[in-house]
Order: sequence, then C-alpha cells, then structure tokens
Amino acid sequence: MSNSTKYIFVTGGVTSSLGKGIISASLAKLLQSRGYSVTIQKLDPYINIDPGTLNPYEHGECFVTDDGAETDLDLGHYERFLNVRTSQANNITTGRIYQSVIEKERRGEFLGKTVQVIPHITDEIKQRIQLLAKTGDYDIIITEIGGTVGDIESLPYIESVRQLLWERENDCIVIHLTLVPYLAAAGELKTKPTQHSVKQLLELGVQPDILCCRTEHELDLNLRRKIAKFCNVSMNAVIEARDAASIYDVPILMQKEELDSVVLEKLGLPKKTAPNLANWNAFLVKLKNPSKTVEIGLIGKYVELKDAYKSISEALIHGGVANDSKVNVHWIQSEKITKTNSHKHLSGLDGILVAPGFGSRGISGKIEAVQHAREQNIPFLGICLGMQCAVIEYARNVMGLEDAHTTEISEDTPHPVISMMQEQKEISNMGGTMRLGAYRCQLKSKSKVAMAYNLDKISERHRHRYEFNSAYLEDFEKAGMKASGKNPKTNLVEVVEIPSHPWFVGVQFHPEYKSTVAAPHPLFVAFINASLTHKK
Ligand code: GLN
Repeated sequence: MSNSTKYIFVTGGVTSSLGKGIISASLAKLLQSRGYSVTIQKLDPYINIDPGTLNPYEHGECFVTDDGAETDLDLGHYERFLNVRTSQANNITTGRIYQSVIEKERRGEFLGKTVQVIPHITDEIKQRIQLLAKTGDYDIIITEIGGTVGDIESLPYIESVRQLLWERENDCIVIHLTLVPYLAAAGELKTKPTQHSVKQLLELGVQPDILCCRTEHELDLNLRRKIAKFCNVSMNAVIEARDAASIYDVPILMQKEELDSVVLEKLGLPKKTAPNLANWNAFLVKLKNPSKTVEIGLIGKYVELKDAYKSISEALIHGGVANDSKVNVHWIQSEKITKTNSHKHLSGLDGILVAPGFGSRGISGKIEAVQHAREQNIPFLGICLGMQCAVIEYARNVMGLEDAHTTEISEDTPHPVISMMQEQKEISNMGGTMRLGAYRCQLKSKSKVAMAYNLDKISERHRHRYEFNSAYLEDFEKAGMKASGKNPKTNLVEVVEIPSHPWFVGVQFHPEYKSTVAAPHPLFVAFINASLTHKK
C-alpha cells in the first residue's frame, strides 16, 4: 500500500440529492488539472450486492465499467469529468461487504472469533477503501459515502472513516456537503440544518474539515462566519455550492471558491501549478454558445425519471458540443407510441434514439419508432434493446417474417431473430450474470460505424443476455440490413446498419458509457451530425 496516498471522504447531511457525486467529480477534476492523479470511489449503504438488479426507477441508471462491474450512476460522472476509467473497486455496497465477511467466516478465517460490525465489517470497509491505493496509480482517492449522515445504514461507513482518520491522521480529510435552505417567508438563508448535521457527525466522532454548502443564494461573509464558528471549521473551509445551470459549471464554481486549494493545504500537499482548465473551459464556451439546435427523440420506458438514461443524455450533450449544436432532447414514453399515433409523437424530430431496456413494457412503441425512423429517413441510433428492436422491425416489415421477435418477449416466436446467447442458457441467478463489460468488435470498412470511429477495431461495453441470431444473418444482408460490426472471437453480430438509409445504426453495446467531456463518443458525434444534416 502506498504510504503517500491521501484520502478525501465526502459525506452528505440534511437531505439526499445534494449532488455529492458532482461535487466529488468537480473536486477531482480540479486536483487532476493541477497534475495530481485522482480517482473516486462510491460506497453505497444498500444491501443489494450491486445496482444491476435494481429497477432504474429506484436508483437511476446502472453504469457499467470496462471490467464488467454494474455500478452506481455516479461512476459515470467520475469518468465523464476525469476521462479516467473506473472499475469494480470504485463501487462498494453493504451487500458486497457483508457477502465477503460472511464468506470469510464460512472459510474459518476469523479463527473462532465472534464476527461483529466492529471490527469485522469496518475492517472490510477500510480495506476496500484502501484497495485502490495498492495499484500505486493514485495520489489522491476521493471516497463518496452514499446516503445521509444519521441514516442507520451508513453508520458502519462513518465509523470506518472515524477509524481511518485516527489511523492515518495526516492522510485524510472529510468534506461534508450540507444544505443551507432559503426561507422565502423570512427572506433568509438558514444555517441551523447545517449546524445540526455537523453535530450529528460529531456524535459519531467525525469532525469535518471542509463544509460545502448547497444554496440557492449567495453565502455572505456573515453567514460563512457563523457556520465556521458553530461547526469548528476555518472561514476559508466554508465553501458555497450554488445551484448551477449545468453540472459542467461546478468545477469552475468550486475553483472560484478555492476548494482545491483548501483541500491541498489541509492534506499538506503542494499546490504545484494552478489548475489548467483550458480544455474544460473551451467545452463550456461551446456548450453555452451553440450556433445551431437539433431535435432528438429519446424513446424509452423510464423517461419519467431522467436519471434512468443519465449516460445517454450526457453523451448527447457531448455529441452536440462537438457539432457546435444544442441538443433538445424530447423524452418520449415508448408505451404511448402506437401504429396510428407514431407520426404525432415523432413529428419534427431530426434524430431518433431508441433506448436500452428489459422486458416487454413499451417494446411495441419502440418498434413503431424504428419503423418511423427507417421509413422517413430520419437518422436512427438504437442501443442494445434499441438495436434489437431495429432487427425485429426489419424482419417483420421488410423481410416479411411475420411475428418475428426476441425470445426475451416471445419464447415461441416463429422467427427468433434475437435470441438468448448460448452461454446464458444455463444461468439461473439474475445478479451479475449478463454479458457484461468491454468486448472487442471488428468493424466493416467504409460502414457508417467505421466512418464514425475512423477505426476498424473498437472496444465497447455490454450489458445484455440476448443477441442477433446469426442463423438469419444471410437473409438480413440480402434484404439490405448489414452486420457492420462483429465480435472477432465469437462472430456475434454487434452492429447492424442499413446502407441505403441516410444514417441508421443499431449497436448491441452501450457507447454512452464511454463518452466524456474530453472525448465525446464518436457514435454520438456522428449521430448528431447526421441529425443536423437531416434538419437542413
Ligand atoms: N433486454 C435485452 C437483453 O438482455 C437488452 C438489454 C439492454 O438493453 N441493456 O439482451
């Protein structure tokens, strides 16, 4: 374990949804832009082993890493901000901690001791926190503790932080994110919830070093003084975290508040150079001053909760910026689309994206949306289930394979054009058993995808059980839908496109997971570009 690695713990108080993930990612960005190598880890206090089995309505999108971990959506923010890959070690849940401790107990590793929350669960947590340091790749590890201080579930995590603060006194600091609400009737910002939340942390033996205060209004000097005095922090450690127009503004706002500089002082690290945010600022300038706009329909069944498609909506923003365009996303509930009303729901769109998903709800609307995009020559991007819908639609409406379907929805369809992968047939457990993580893909030269990537070999992340049924490949190709990307080892079809259409691409993988501010994803860039051309 590297002795010099420094740890920053980020806790949250008063209420959930204050944006710990964005604050953590923004701080990491500032430290990275000063030349430090930084990673972020998320500790989630729920008992699921990972969010892979969670309904997106519960917890938003499930983000997938290169190494095939199904993780919290905050890891997506970390990758998008830092342009650094995360892994299984970056997301830990209570379920995983307990699973590992119980497995050790069964192996007899505790030598007859009574296994307890303290020290066994907290030891496991501390070990997982310090695991990332073992790679020797990071100067600083930011650990975000999910939930709100005071929750029963997060107690073992706060206790682990308390122990680490004691054991590695010079290497750790705590940033506490709180809310300073504005009471309209009183016309005032109120600091009491922050005071109480810090007291709650103190009861658990943790004194925060820095307070980030979410607020809708300016935190003036008097308020800062008051918070500093009641919460035992220095004035410069009371950081205003104002609501921002875009999450991508937050690093700049935190820089103005000198959060990075206070953090480095407290960790005893040199300030090196001033943060170099030239590229980030260039992105922001383009984001805020687009010369055009484009209308994109996002067809999905979870559209009421935009977090369910977080990476897709961010990748669309990145793709827009790369094209100097604002992307207006029209969130369209696939359940509402039928044969008779699809024109009404989809008119005026310059591009149609059919989202990933599981199960039958809303699938017929997705298939209608594909047909509309194909027949009206509207640029189309189908992701995972979206690609599968494109295959089903083509089989039914172009190839005349009536009732063609995926065996996920219709087990005894006469034409299983999408079917379960062989390796999946033996599996009965639902958690962590899909085809997950990065796989290589060979692209057909001169295809739309190969042109978008400007490469012929790519690697993209997967999360699915069903696949294009290669028994039908020849028929599809004869009918005009081509396989333009295949797995070089297994020959599985990973990309389909229709060369006679202006831009029609379906991908079995999830390109959205790899789009970052520094490197907007080429498929999203090409999709927006095609949509802008369509608009003209
Ligand atoms: N439900 C489909 C499958 O398992 C697609 C999954 C997805 O869209 N991520 O293959």
